[in-house]
Amino acid sequence: MHKLLAMPGSDLVPPFCPRQGCVHHGVPERTDWFESDGHHETAAFGSVPRFRCKACGRSFSTQTFSVDYYAKKVVDYRELELLLSSSMSGRSLGRHFLLSPNSVQNRVDRLSRQALAVHSALRGFANPAEPVVVDGFQSLDRSQYFPNNITLSVSSGSLFLLEATHATLRRSGAMTEVQKRRREAMESKINYEPHALARSFTEILDQLAKERPPGPTRPLVLVTDLKKEYTHAFDRHAFGSLAKDQVKRVLVSSRSARTRSNPLFPVNYWDRELRKDQAAHRRETACHCRSAANGMARFWCYARYHNYRKRYPIRAHRVDQRTHADVAGIRKELRLALDGLYYRARAFLSRSELSVAGLKAWLKLFPTPGVDGIGRIPAFALD
Ligand SMILES: [Zn+2]
Repeated sequence: MHKLLAMPGSDLVPPFCPRQGCVHHGVPERTDWFESDGHHETAAFGSVPRFRCKACGRSFSTQTFSVDYYAKKVVDYRELELLLSSSMSGRSLGRHFLLSPNSVQNRVDRLSRQALAVHSALRGFANPAEPVVVDGFQSLDRSQYFPNNITLSVSSGSLFLLEATHATLRRSGAMTEVQKRRREAMESKINYEPHALARSFTEILDQLAKERPPGPTRPLVLVTDLKKEYTHAFDRHAFGSLAKDQVKRVLVSSRSARTRSNPLFPVNYWDRELRKDQAAHRRETACHCRSAANGMARFWCYARYHNYRKRYPIRAHRVDQRTHADVAGIRKELRLALDGLYYRARAFLSRSELSVAGLKAWLKLFPTPGVDGIGRIPAFALD
């Protein structure tokens, strides 16, 4: 896993060739696989050493491995992560870091790719004996006419977030006549994804099937509410044909009291945390998501902060520094191996093992209702 994030050391030896498919893209077996190729001058990073791969001829520099590749201004990502996770809006972040709104989103996107890569590498080490609780967090994209459902899976006792995906829903509930007419006018231009909730639940199940497959000696306990979309998706999934002692479903009414003893507490807790810590999800906020893909990028920055940086027991003694990842059973040495480079060394898509939902978030494929096209990512994010 140490290969996931890597930077040239003080000896200026690049860790691998950045070109996908090159024989030196893994861990180069020889030290003479590259040659020096001069320097280039930059305003933000000074003189940057360049190299050339002897096998594929790709030219690259020390910056190629940096999270700031192609950036023109240096930002403290650790501070950005903290402020983004403390309910600061995009425009406030721009004022604080002296960045335009687009540049703020650019840095958030970079941080979200780091989060997705590192979380995907570590998530499989979480204690598989903990029940997994799945439910949707409801917010909106663009306006109140476009509610969304961010389906979450959370490991029960540790409150460690495992997976998240996004679905756009059709607005329902009580509306005035004017609102109904407005919704009709808007919906005439929009194609809603059929069975979006079932699809998002299936993506959550796929991640569990791949990374914590249940077996006769290690059953998966899956806690959900009574949504019929979940049951239909479960029955059609490979999990649905497993014996009941391998995947035990616990069904809880979403109307049950939202107390700590409610089996849905872990997702209710995340619901509360997201409302309080993410500007875009506050009630009656002016900071709501304008783009579903950008919203999910902010979400993943927050999820990595909450899982791996925020202390787990808020009332614990100050010497108790356990994070949610620690409580979930992720060994400290695994986490620390990546922590040191998290804000510096760029995660490569080709070296990250993402789930389907993770890949959609990385590639910004979650569509925004009523907006043509999907989120844009720079070419280097496909490396
Ligand atoms: Zn190469």
